[in-house]
Amino acid sequence: MKKKYQAMVLSCMDPRFQPIVFNYLKKKKLSGKYSSFTITGSAIGVTTSKFKKWHKTFWDNFETSVKLHNIKKLIVINHRDCGAAKIVNGNKIFDKFNETKIHRASFDEIRKKFKKKYPRLKIELKLISLNKKIENF
Ligand SMILES: [Zn+2]
Repeated sequence: MKKKYQAMVLSCMDPRFQPIVFNYLKKKKLSGKYSSFTITGSAIGVTTSKFKKWHKTFWDNFETSVKLHNIKKLIVINHRDCGAAKIVNGNKIFDKFNETKIHRASFDEIRKKFKKKYPRLKIELKLISLNKKIENF
């Protein structure tokens, strides 16, 4: 029997966003059809030099999930007011402009790596606002 297609969801460990991510994926009819990789900063955690040790762990897990669960898509969900973005931002003012720059850089980097490693798989990049709205990048 052919296995059904699955997705992997990369998201942040921030407790405020767990129900939002869960309900979003449920609404998308993905319940029971995705594997979950939850780490500080989501794409920020697996791309910036601040969290270098985590990068390989993520890609190793993704590779394993591709083999085990027939993953065809990576859904990356970052969120506003992220502690990891604040760490990367350092001493600069943490305003919407600087925060967006950090999210965008992490999205650009993960997309680039992903397209190189998995040219035939799909990637979706999303950012959750504090009012629970989900923007596509
Ligand atoms: Zn976060």
